[in-house]
Amino acid sequence: NDAPIIYADNAATTQKPLSVIRRLSNFYAEENSNVHRGVHALSEAATAAFEDSRKIIAKFINAQSEAEIIFTKGTTEAVNLVAQSYARSQLKTNDKVIITELEHHSNIVPWQIVKEQTGCELCIAPVSTSGEVLLEEFEKLCDERTKIVSFSHISNALGTINPVTELTKIAKLCGAKVFIDGAQATLHEAIDVQKIGCDFYAFSGHKAIGPTGIGILYGKLNLLEEMPPWQGGGDMIEKVSFKGTTYNNVPYKFEAGTPNIAGAIGLAEGIKYYSTIDLQSAKEHTRSLTKKCEELSSCISGLRVIGTATNKSSICSFIIDNIHPNDIGTLLDQQGIAIRSGHHCAMPLMEKFGIKGTARASFTFYNTIEEVEQVFKAIEKARKILA
Ligand code: PMP
Repeated sequence: NDAPIIYADNAATTQKPLSVIRRLSNFYAEENSNVHRGVHALSEAATAAFEDSRKIIAKFINAQSEAEIIFTKGTTEAVNLVAQSYARSQLKTNDKVIITELEHHSNIVPWQIVKEQTGCELCIAPVSTSGEVLLEEFEKLCDERTKIVSFSHISNALGTINPVTELTKIAKLCGAKVFIDGAQATLHEAIDVQKIGCDFYAFSGHKAIGPTGIGILYGKLNLLEEMPPWQGGGDMIEKVSFKGTTYNNVPYKFEAGTPNIAGAIGLAEGIKYYSTIDLQSAKEHTRSLTKKCEELSSCISGLRVIGTATNKSSICSFIIDNIHPNDIGTLLDQQGIAIRSGHHCAMPLMEKFGIKGTARASFTFYNTIEEVEQVFKAIEKARKILA
């Protein structure tokens, strides 16, 4: 609409640095080959680049070994992998899985499927009106029947940053395995899976300045080794015969078929890019964007922020009296501004707040204070038109 684009939909997906785009393009133009199977130079180079990426990702989240990094399509596939391989094979009727009210559908539905398959109980830890997990309630739910606890690091719908280390500690006291959905966390928090103490951690490349169609599942090595394969096919086997098949080592046991080679290499390139910037000042900058959102949102008449946790990322979810969130999104688009409106794949959370959806502006380290100001100016303009 003849206005310079302001991209404030980073919780849906982030933009990619040129180094990532060039790395992808270069891989396809100059290096393309399948991995693991060839003896020719191109295949060996592709395999080395693919496996180097695994090492870079392992270092990024401080995994003990690169064997603990499984390439997936994204966070969604990682949750499904753990649900179908670990949970389905371990859980029985009397066991409990705990999630929270904050979850994205991808951290709800896979557990509902496991509930149907195993007869286990699925318990939901409630959140406060500000959108924070009620620790006492969470603690009350955790007992000796609890086998898996799964929660997001940062809520995509509200921006709440969960106290993941504390939640993990509570869950571990009752002997449960902990899965963390880190889809929104990679650009906001330094991730140290060993410090957190979780058993599984997942994130998506496309929300971390990397390509779409690639993500990772981190799992503790001993657990991954015990888990049965999820999908069968090439690469995940050691020996196949019609009498029976033996499986490859971790992580390959969980990577059936040709992986997203360019995606993995591109994701590692994104992490390399991110590692060259001063993370402390990036964090302070994002915090100042969050503060600016808080300041400016309080100046708009009839605007209510949904999700007011003390510890919040740069996601601002809001509604305005008598105005549909989609109308706000459309009027902002006419001013060159990309935000998201709807239920953000968190329908139960919207129901909790008694709303159908919100308008959501989400910023990241490359957004500027001026952009936040422009977004709120445009929201005020939209409000006046729609009121
Ligand atoms: N969890 C959260 C918190 C998310 O924000 C998202 C993506 N919106 C997902 C899971 C699913 O990620 P993907 O679609 O990349 O698998």
